Parts: sequence; structure tokens; C-alpha cells
Amino acid sequence: MCSFPNLPEYCQISPENSMESSPKQRNSILIVEDNPNNIGVLFNLLIEKGFQVRVARDGESCLDKVNYDAPDLILLDVMMPGMDGFETCARLKANPTWAEIPVIFMTALSETVDKLRGLQLGAVDYITKPFEQQEILARVQLHLQLYNLTQRLKKEIGDRKAAQTALKQLNQDLEQRITERTTTLEKTVLDLQNAHRALLAREQQLQHNALHDSLTGLPNRTWLLTRLSQLIKTTQHHPQHCYAILFIDLDRFKVLNDSLGHLVGDELLKQVAQRLQTCLPDNATLVRWGGDEFIVLLEPIDSEEDAIAIAATILDRITIPFQLRSYQIHTGASIGITSSIHRYQQPQAVLRDADVAMYHAKHAGRGCYVVLTPEMQRLALSRLQLENELREGLARQEFVLHYQPIVSLSTGKLYGFEALIRWYHPKRGLVSPIKFIPIAEETGLIHDLGEWVLQEAIQQLQQWHRQSPQSQGLMMSINLSPLQLMQENLVEKIEFLLRKAQIKGEQIKLEVTESCLLEARSSETQVLERIKALGMQICIDDFGTGYSAFSRLHEFPVDTLKIDKSFIRRLRQDQRSGPTIQTIITLAHGLQMDAIAEGIETPEERQKLQDMGCEWGQGYLFATPLDSSQASEWIFND
Ligand code: C2E
Ligand code: MG
Ligand code: MG
Repeated sequence: MCSFPNLPEYCQISPENSMESSPKQRNSILIVEDNPNNIGVLFNLLIEKGFQVRVARDGESCLDKVNYDAPDLILLDVMMPGMDGFETCARLKANPTWAEIPVIFMTALSETVDKLRGLQLGAVDYITKPFEQQEILARVQLHLQLYNLTQRLKKEIGDRKAAQTALKQLNQDLEQRITERTTTLEKTVLDLQNAHRALLAREQQLQHNALHDSLTGLPNRTWLLTRLSQLIKTTQHHPQHCYAILFIDLDRFKVLNDSLGHLVGDELLKQVAQRLQTCLPDNATLVRWGGDEFIVLLEPIDSEEDAIAIAATILDRITIPFQLRSYQIHTGASIGITSSIHRYQQPQAVLRDADVAMYHAKHAGRGCYVVLTPEMQRLALSRLQLENELREGLARQEFVLHYQPIVSLSTGKLYGFEALIRWYHPKRGLVSPIKFIPIAEETGLIHDLGEWVLQEAIQQLQQWHRQSPQSQGLMMSINLSPLQLMQENLVEKIEFLLRKAQIKGEQIKLEVTESCLLEARSSETQVLERIKALGMQICIDDFGTGYSAFSRLHEFPVDTLKIDKSFIRRLRQDQRSGPTIQTIITLAHGLQMDAIAEGIETPEERQKLQDMGCEWGQGYLFATPLDSSQASEWIFND
């Protein structure tokens, strides 16, 4: 008989044929039996096979031991004192913690009724006494295995469920993150789209600004040049696609702008732009060329007649007065027209020709239109050529001064010379100053040219001074362009030249035109004052031809009035200019000035002028303009 009560609670022996290794391998068995013999047999058998074995002698103690440490299998005797096996089994199964522990009944009873009852109570098997050791072992191992498998399966199911739950949670988290990220991305995309839209709008605005005038909102010159380039290409391939240009220049705008101020000027330009738009058909584009110049591009057109009709409408409507603040403003326009019939290759040529035609319209008296003709083109071209040659001529020193004597009408004695410029052109021969001075003035070349004249004339006077004592008191008259009067350092330059040549200011007389004086602003009047301060004299040239400056004459420091040769010529033809000449001479004397008559060609003229009290005379009667050596002879022979 086995002394099992001294055994430890569990005997730590591995089962011989244990199932596959598992960390939670179950092999603890609780034997519930009151018969010591049976206990001994079972205990030894199971211990030997490596199970952990405990023993309980009745139902009560079985429940205690299970409660203390649940076994993996219970071998439960049916017939026991106190609580029998069925009752014990029923209690075990009633407790959810123990309900799954496999219970194998051990009974001597072999009736089916008991077996059934045991199974109904939840037992897994039966062992019938007396024990068959192999059977016990087989059943114990089987049920432990089943129990193990069941537990493992349950755990696996549990794990899977947990995994599924975790997965679900993970999915939810992921979905949430995706939703959040999607929202962020959508917002970013929206922001980007907005930024892109703003950029596009800015780009379009910049592009618009580059091609439009900021004041009127009309297309500008860049737009027009680009469009004309395209049109020129188109007409080269499709000559029937014709276009025309109307170059519109507002008359009197500069005067209005200066007198009413730039704000009113701007307002007027805007209103003009609006008015012009109302005159235009669908095939027209109005362009602001700059300042008070507008251009209408017409395309396609059937003929130049289309452009002429529009020009007539514009001229008609532009004369309707503009109401600006409290001012009623009257204006007009001069329009130059050209078209693709001239087979242009360059946009600049189209605009140049339209400008040329406009220039002719202005000269024709303003308020009209002029259509470009080949003759106008030729003239403009030769003018352009002359302009270039003038530059070259200046560089190549092709200019000389001639000197026309000015004499005393009473004594015939030499008073001085007027320096008159001449251009010896290598191909054209002698070119008159009447032809090139206006071009020099328009191009600004007059500054260099005028400076050269001053220097040359003063040097000539110095040379004569050196050569003969007779020349000491001679006067040198030098023509001055109105533009030279605006030159900043004109007085300083003359002063320098005089000092260098050791010539006194008193020997120089500067000739300025009448209109130049009339338009003189305070700065130019100041220049005249400074010229006077240097001792020089001032003469009004061609007096009587401009808008007479009678009323303002006393405002300027003038010494001499030079009566224009047209009056002298008329004196030859009829007698009517006599009183006019007399009035001019009287006026000069009244203002403490003297008078010179230019263009005297006959002794009669001389006599009449002398009789009228004119001090000095100049003209072919005495001498034509002479080159420097001829003029020198004149001095010596005087
Ligand atoms: P202007 O200053 O009135 O010069 C007088 C013009 O009358 C000169 O013409 C002269 O040759 C011409 N003349 C002189 N006597 C007679 C005459 O008896 N009968 C006729 N029919 N004409 C006579 P020119 O030299 O051709 O000069 C023309 C104009 O060119 C000048 O008129 C002057 O305005 C301008 N000019 C000439 N030289 C210069 C210059 O150095 N600077 C500037 N700014 N202008 C100049
Ligand atoms: Mg003159
Ligand atoms: Mg003159």
C-alpha cells in the first residue's frame, strides 16, 4: 500500500508520452476516492507515468482542493461517504471556473442508468472498477489531451478574437487617420488651387498691364506693335486681308494740359478715349499710343474708304465740347491714315507713315485727316536721310560760316557782320540753312551746331582783331535758335568763348526770333538778362513776321529790331508796306532800340529806309553773305 499522504501536493514528474511540448501542458490530476487501496493503485500508476497527482477523500475536500488549485483532470469516485460523486460533479459543473475540468467517474456500478446520469451531469467518461491500468492510463491521457486541445483551441479562438478586435481597432484608427489625412490633403490641394488661381490671376494682370495703358485701359503700343507684326505676316500670305491705321493727334492738348493741370488733362484723355470708342465699328481697335496720341487699327477692311469714313466720323464727334468739372473744353484732332496697300514689312514703318500723314494733316491746318501718299513717303524718307547726313556732316565738319556785312545806311560804313551757316554737302552741294536748321532743331542737333557757330564766329572776330585795327569796333551778329535759349549752360559757354578769344561782350549781337520771345518763359527771360549782363546785345530777327510782340516788347532786354526782308521786298512791289516799316522803326526808337533792315537790294530801298530813320541795313545791294576771306577784304577796303 502506498503512503501517498506524505507525498508533496504535486509530484513534479513529466509524463512519459506527453503530448507535443507546450508551455501550458496540463497534467495535474486530482483523485477523489475514499478507498485507500484504490487511491494507492491509481496514485502509483499515475505518478509513475509522470503526472502530477493529488488526492481528495471525499466530495467536500475535492471542492476545497479544486478551489485551492484547479487540476487538469479529476478522477471522481461515485460512491463516497457524505457528498457522493454525482453531487460533487454537479457542484463542480455549476461553477463556471471549474465547469470545464474533465471529470472521469470511477465506479463499481456498471449500470447504464448511472453512466447516463454521470454524463448528463457533465462527466466526460467512466472507468469501471476493478481498474484496468491500461484503460485508466489511456482514458486519462485521452481526456487530458482533449482538455489540452480544447483549452488550446479556446485560447486560440480568444487570441483570434483579440487579434480581430485589435485589427478592427487598427482599421478604425487607420480609417480615422486616412480621413484626417484626406481632409488635410484636400485642404492643402484647395490651398494650392487657390494659390495657383491667385498666381494665374496675377500673371494675367501683369500680362494685361504689359499690353494696356493704365490711364484709359486701352491696348498700348506693345499690343499694337505685336498685332501689326502678325498682320504683316498674314497679309504677306493673304494679300486680300487688308488693314488700315488711323493716327489721331489731339489738337491743342498740350496747351490745355499746361493751363488746366495734369489731372484735368488725364480726365480729358479718358473722355476722349470713350468718345472715340463710340465712333468705331466692330473691326476696329482703339489704342493709346502715348500722350495725346491715339491709334485706330482697322482689320479687316475692304478699302481705304472704310478708314476715311471712320476718320470723318471721329473729326465730327471730337469737336463736340467735353464737360470736365466746371470747364467746357473744345478740342479737335488731326488724323493720318495709312493702310496695307503700301505693303509694309515692319510695324514701325506702318506707324512712321501714319505719323507722317498726321503731320501733313497738322500742317494742312489741323482738324482734318490726310491719307498717306507715295510723295509723302518720299519726302519723309529724304528728310530722314538728311537727318542722318546732318549728323555725319557735323562729325566731318562740313559746315562753314559766311558773313553778310551790315552797314550804316547814312554813311555806308561797315557796322558788322551777320554770321550765316552753310553746309557744303559732299553730294548735294551747298545746302541752305532754311532746309537743315529746322531738322537740326527737331533732332536736337542744333545744340552742337549752334555751339560750333558761336565758337567759329567769335574766333573769326578774334582773327580779324589780330589782323587789323579797323575791325576792333565791328559787331558780330549770331543767330540763336529758341532751343539754344533753353540750354542750361549757354551763358557760361558764351562767356568762356569770349574770354578765350579776348572779345568783349559788347561786340556780339545775338539774333532771336520774335515768336521765340513771345513764348519765352521766365527761365528763358533770365537767360536773356544774363546775356545782357555780359554786355552782349539782343536783336529780334525777322521782326513783324511772327505774332507781333508789341505789347510785351518792353518786358525783354532788346537792343535792336531787325525788319524782316519780306517788308522790304513789298516796298519794291508796292508802297503799302512803307507805313508798317515806319511804325516798326518808330516803335524801336520809342523803346530805345535801333533798327536794321535786311534784304535791301536796291538803292531806292536803301534811300527810303534811311529816310524813315532806319540806322542799319543788310542786303545784296551791299553784299551777299561772304566767305571769311572775302569778308576780310571787305574790312580792309572799308
Ligand atoms: P536770317 O537770320 O533772317 O538771315 C537772313 C537771310 O536773308 C539769309 O539767308 C541771307 O542770306 C538772306 N539775305 C540777305 N540779304 C538778302 C537779300 O538782299 N535778299 C534776299 N532775298 N535774301 C537776303 P540764309 O543765309 O539762307 O539764312 C536763312 C536763315 O537761316 C536765317 O535767316 C536764319 O534764320 C537761319 N540761319 C542761318 N544761319 C544760322 C545759324 O548759324 N544759326 C541759326 N540758328 N539759324 C541760322
Ligand atoms: Mg538773322
Ligand atoms: Mg532775318
